Amino acid sequence: MRQSLHNTSLRKYNTFGIEVNAKELIICHNKEEIQTLINEKNFNNQNTLIIGGGSNLVFTKDFDGIIIHPQIKGISLIKEDDSNFWIEAGAGVLWDELVQEAVNNNWHGLENLSYIPGHVGASPIQNIGAYGVEAKDVIEQVKGIFLEDGKDFQFNNTDCKFGYRNSIFKNELKGKVIVTSVIYKLSKEPNFILSYGTVKEEVEKLGEPNLKNIRKVITAIRKSKLPEPEEVGNAGSFFKNPIIPIVKFHKLQEQFDKVPSYPIDTEWIKLPAGWLIEQAGWKGRTMGNVGVHDKQALVLVNKGGASGNEVLNLSQAIIKDIQEKFSITLEPEVNLI
Ligand SMILES: Cc1cc2nc3c(=O)[nH]c(=O)nc-3n(C[C@H](O)[C@H](O)[C@H](O)COP(=O)(O)OP(=O)(O)OC[C@H]3O[C@@H](n4cnc5c(N)ncnc54)[C@H](O)[C@@H]3O)c2cc1C
Repeated sequence: MRQSLHNTSLRKYNTFGIEVNAKELIICHNKEEIQTLINEKNFNNQNTLIIGGGSNLVFTKDFDGIIIHPQIKGISLIKEDDSNFWIEAGAGVLWDELVQEAVNNNWHGLENLSYIPGHVGASPIQNIGAYGVEAKDVIEQVKGIFLEDGKDFQFNNTDCKFGYRNSIFKNELKGKVIVTSVIYKLSKEPNFILSYGTVKEEVEKLGEPNLKNIRKVITAIRKSKLPEPEEVGNAGSFFKNPIIPIVKFHKLQEQFDKVPSYPIDTEWIKLPAGWLIEQAGWKGRTMGNVGVHDKQALVLVNKGGASGNEVLNLSQAIIKDIQEKFSITLEPEVNLI
């Protein structure tokens, strides 16, 4: 049954561990509960937010509106042919539970996305990605409901207008839909992507490349670099990696011995934002109750009792400094609420 909590703390609903309240938090367990809710309340003139695991957002103040938290569970094999499996997962399934299930069943395609926090319903929102794979590579369809009128939608991959940490859900449809389930097209044949960082050599140490070994290696690398949100509040990469013109990149190469980069095309190149932040001297620095992680400068952390405003101030100070030092504008990857 639908649960409704009034003036409730959101601390356990955001991995940064910010202590703020929501006027109302509504937990829905299936599509019908969401549809009934939309029929009862008019969401057109209400401040509304959908949250999954709260691992890609930072609350800067109390939320004076309704938060909907879809807890739709279930992972099912809905179709298969000679080459592929089609898997539908509910928005409330833990992302890493889905990856584990895929690895157990020999469904190929999700293994590089191991150990990313959050729920399935958020995977298309920013087109999650890691170690050379993005959700868009495997998403076949996104199903959901329009908040405005409770009508269903089914978007195919191209309808979602996926880009780097981007999709239609962060643009035209921002705040307008609830994703209820996602269908992934996974492969029967391996197509291992091991080229990122030290993945290949670490997998070789374990033996042959297979789903279990890749998952094991990627999970271990992530654990060694990123703070566990249960221990140190954080929202993963705070900024997107900036994409800059190659001409500008060559100028940076004149200034620094080695500038890490990921090629995009003949005109553009992507730089690791963490490298820029580190070069600017922010790694490990603290401002009040927030800081820059000492192992990965792209991650801002809660040093204990951080307020949303402190996070905002630190992130703005970093953006300003990077702008001044490199003439590059960093954009937050996290959703500032
Ligand atoms: C330690 C750590 C490591 C991370 N590593 C990565 C990484 O490698 N790659 C990566 O891409 N991300 C990474 N992230 C970010 C985050 O895990 C992902 O963005 C994840 O998909 C967020 O899921 P969530 O359920 O927590 O979403 P939330 O934070 O709850 O929400 C994120 C956004 O999606 C919207 N949303 C959520 N659910 C729904 C829904 N059902 N319908 C409509 N809108 C919805 C929210 O309104 C919000 O705008 C990391 C985060 C942490 C803390």
